[in-house]
Amino acid sequence: MRPTGAMHLGHLFGALGNWVKLQDDYETFYMVADWHAMTTLYDKSSDMTMIKSSSNDMVADWISCGIDTSKSCVFRQSDIPAHSELFLILSMITPLGWLMRCPTYKEQLKEIKNHDLNTFGFLGYPVLQAADILLYKADCVPVGEDQLPHLEITREIARRFNHLYPGAGGKVFPEPKALLTNSPKLLGTDGRKMSKSYDNAVNLGDDEKTAAKKIARMITDPERIHKSDPGHPDVCSVFSYWKAVPGEKNKEIKSACKDASIGCVECKKRLAEEINSLLAPIKERRKKISGDEVNKALEEGAKKAGAAAAETLQSVRKSISI
Ligand code: SF4
Repeated sequence: MRPTGAMHLGHLFGALGNWVKLQDDYETFYMVADWHAMTTLYDKSSDMTMIKSSSNDMVADWISCGIDTSKSCVFRQSDIPAHSELFLILSMITPLGWLMRCPTYKEQLKEIKNHDLNTFGFLGYPVLQAADILLYKADCVPVGEDQLPHLEITREIARRFNHLYPGAGGKVFPEPKALLTNSPKLLGTDGRKMSKSYDNAVNLGDDEKTAAKKIARMITDPERIHKSDPGHPDVCSVFSYWKAVPGEKNKEIKSACKDASIGCVECKKRLAEEINSLLAPIKERRKKISGDEVNKALEEGAKKAGAAAAETLQSVRKSISI
């Protein structure tokens, strides 16, 4: 996860909630992708110091959301030099066409206008991501649908490397599979993509009033003009949040919306209550997490991740005979 500012509900419902579950069934590595943050925040208009402070804040948020650092290896990408070395090696064998065809590359070039993204680093982003995954010989990567093309490039790079340099003992890299997260895609409170730069997200650290105010402003079903009009929850952003909230209350809301027995103001008020009670224990835990605890978790993580990465890099160097 990129450390680019305050964490919000999109992170919680889209990734973190799932990460917490996975740590009981898998050996998990969760990485603060600070080199990746630099791909868009490198220029004079960016506050680079924010990457480091956000990294530590983000790890504290992960812990408060349930990431257990005794079960999961939590580490910072820039603490493990092997990421840059494997990135370099993999970039030698990755055809440019694979990167230029990547749909998220084209999409972001179009969308992000405040930074010049015509850089080698931005184009090579999926190669660095491949290095991040392959260094740990990951069998699975938890991703959303929109990340599938990136994972496909990682699989292709692994296949190409294995084909070009068959190690003495067979394939160096496994081809990682996607562990598709079943979470609904949440839009921002203004109906646009959820993003810090649009200030349209409910942050994990928002106080109750702020969260309720943001939810009260949310765009609803545009065809529902009067409270007596039956609503269409499936096209309503508010309802997508209801679906993300754990439990079955969304079923009740769905039918109440369809038969117009609940109005949008009441629906949003109830949603704010749900979200606030979900965030309350997270905020409580967050207050108790000290900077030392985060630093210690990252130090331990760097040791474990560093050892695993060094082992992989050794077999890579052996395979390429360098
Ligand atoms: Fe959306 Fe709720 Fe209004 Fe239905 S009642 S349109 S789900 S805000």
